[in-house]
Amino acid sequence: MPTNIEWTDLTDNIIRAKEGGWWCQKISDGCKNCYSEKLNQNSFFGGNKLPYSGQPPELTLDTEAIRKWGFQRKSRRHFVASMTDVFGEWVPRFWQHEMLDGMFVAPKQIFQILTKRPEIMLLSMNEWLSNHGLEELPSNIWVGTSIENRRTLEERSQPLSQIPASVRFWSVEPLLKHLGDISQYLNDVQLVIIGGESGPNSRPCHIEWIESIVKQCSESKTPVFVKQLGANAYYQGQRFKTRDKKGGEIEEFPQHLKLREFPLPVRN
Ligand code: SF4
Repeated sequence: MPTNIEWTDLTDNIIRAKEGGWWCQKISDGCKNCYSEKLNQNSFFGGNKLPYSGQPPELTLDTEAIRKWGFQRKSRRHFVASMTDVFGEWVPRFWQHEMLDGMFVAPKQIFQILTKRPEIMLLSMNEWLSNHGLEELPSNIWVGTSIENRRTLEERSQPLSQIPASVRFWSVEPLLKHLGDISQYLNDVQLVIIGGESGPNSRPCHIEWIESIVKQCSESKTPVFVKQLGANAYYQGQRFKTRDKKGGEIEEFPQHLKLREFPLPVRN
């Protein structure tokens, strides 16, 4: 499905609830205002009204959508499963592997997989690689983890760094706290996406926190993509208001933050 998420072209929600809508399980502070759960509360948008906690409903894997990847001619970026976490504990391992099989036979497409559970992603990817006698993921499969504060930086960057992929990325959204010195972690990532929180009840994001990440990325020559300043941005102690409600219009960014970079194309 086409999307207005700035760092991708399409969202492919291959895992859905059998009776309609989606499901996921909240895991950290970044999930507090989960956009997917909000959408799922609304039957007008096809939601099933279940909360993102407790036991999962019956789920289904859209194998037809996966099969179609191999026939798509135009090369595009696909954010896979934007409404859930493919590496959630409740997702069967063979579904994850079926997804990877579909990506493997669609080398023209770029797949961006984002998880808050990179330790499960690491195990699952290693099994898949060993089943295929491969040492590294195909270069069209990008693996990423979400980082929201120092704790998640320390916990999630380590398992991500062990995945043998040509593009590992962080989605630092919602950025909830100053991350401090990240330089030692940047050697292991090829892209850093940054965003303040958007939507109702957005928590504050200080533009100085974004500046600090951008500066360290530029010092380490890591591509950086400033996605949005968020709906509740502050700069130099004052509210930084933008016309765009997510603070996602690049023309409204401070000049030195107008950066939307990607890693150079890599080929296997
Ligand atoms: S992992 Fe993502 S989709 Fe799942 S609850 Fe958290 S924010 Fe929502």
